[in-house]
Amino acid sequence: MQFDAAVVGAGPAGSTAARLLAKAGWRVALIEKAEFPRHKVCGEFISAATMPLLEACGIASAFFAGAGPPVRQVALYAASSITQAPLPSGGGRALGREHLDLLLRDAALAAGAMLFQPAELIALERHPTGYLCRLQSGESLQARMVIAASGSWNSKGPFALDRPARPSDLLGFKAHFRRSPLPEDLMPLLAFPGGYGGMVHSDAGRVSLSCCVRRDALATIRARHGGRAAEAVFAHIAATTKGAALALAGAEPDGAFLSAGPIRPGIRTRYRDGIFFTGNLGGEAHPVIAEGISMAVQSSTLLAKLLIGEADIALAGRRYSRAWRQTFAPRLEASRLFAHIAMQPATRALAAALVHRMPALLTFGACLAGKAP
Ligand SMILES: Cc1cc2nc3c(=O)[nH]c(=O)nc-3n(C[C@H](O)[C@H](O)[C@H](O)COP(=O)(O)OP(=O)(O)OC[C@H]3O[C@@H](n4cnc5c(N)ncnc54)[C@H](O)[C@@H]3O)c2cc1C
Repeated sequence: MQFDAAVVGAGPAGSTAARLLAKAGWRVALIEKAEFPRHKVCGEFISAATMPLLEACGIASAFFAGAGPPVRQVALYAASSITQAPLPSGGGRALGREHLDLLLRDAALAAGAMLFQPAELIALERHPTGYLCRLQSGESLQARMVIAASGSWNSKGPFALDRPARPSDLLGFKAHFRRSPLPEDLMPLLAFPGGYGGMVHSDAGRVSLSCCVRRDALATIRARHGGRAAEAVFAHIAATTKGAALALAGAEPDGAFLSAGPIRPGIRTRYRDGIFFTGNLGGEAHPVIAEGISMAVQSSTLLAKLLIGEADIALAGRRYSRAWRQTFAPRLEASRLFAHIAMQPATRALAAALVHRMPALLTFGACLAGKAP
């Protein structure tokens, strides 16, 4: 089978690219290894700034129908300190990944992309006119170019990142809770010993709690709280962070506790020899700013714009690489700074004291993170 583009991964990045290219008349193969719907470690929040792109993906009305309430306030919960501030643009919302990714994938199919699922890309072979993509099933397909959108953690195949374990690795955890007293329009950032996290009202009355914990801190946390890693982490957050303890008081877990990782934020290769890297695979911010879905949708929208009508693949690759850095590097830098502040005991205490005196700093931080124009 011959395609203009083979898109690997049907997360937000892959399905967005597949949708926009198929809509422009391209023959697109969308290859996804997992069965959908599937759950994922993720806070599920999407910034207001990304809503117009969801419109272009054809899912805005279904998203609004299913998503949780608009978020209008941010907060910092660190030790016993609780500070709230308004979110200027407001209106960002959260939707479970088992719903969001299905909507985005189906929008790509409605635009004409051909789906291979469950189908894992296991190898790529270079040909004069593009690539031969070999799937685990024994099938293979040819494409003029490859769009690698297979994510950066739990990714498999030719784009899997090589990652020997390091003490500083971040591991991700996530759970849903019902009956949480967390105010509906509030999204707190949790800064706790060994990591950071966030809470937000998502769909169907659920609150998502997601977080990152350093590998070396996890060992101590497990020794203190016992049980499975995710349970120990949530017990640790409740024991060390008053705001989180209040938001979890009387709440009941809904569904399984999930884990993922290691998560290695940073900028990676965005283009190489006919392969475009988008979403987390091209570059990843610290989840502390809850911008990964938005950046996945935004980077694939940028890529599709540069590809449509451009016959020179290498030229499109150079333009994409440059535009990616200009667009996303400031957000990655901001996320690195916030993660550092949240994870170091001295800066965490100082930041909590500062924002308590000047809550406007929280609003300013949310703007730097990309949550407002
Ligand atoms: C704790 C935590 C909280 C977060 N909270 C938020 C948040 O609130 N808001 C936000 O915007 N972002 C958040 N993020 C980040 C967000 O989850 C990611 O940035 C986002 O999922 C990236 O999308 P993607 O499409 O690049 O990759 P993914 O969503 O990882 O999708 C990649 C897809 O590729 C498939 N795949 C992998 N290998 C292959 C293969 N060989 N063949 C075929 N398919 C393959 C996978 O099955 C997967 O479906 C959070 C992350 C963490 C860790």
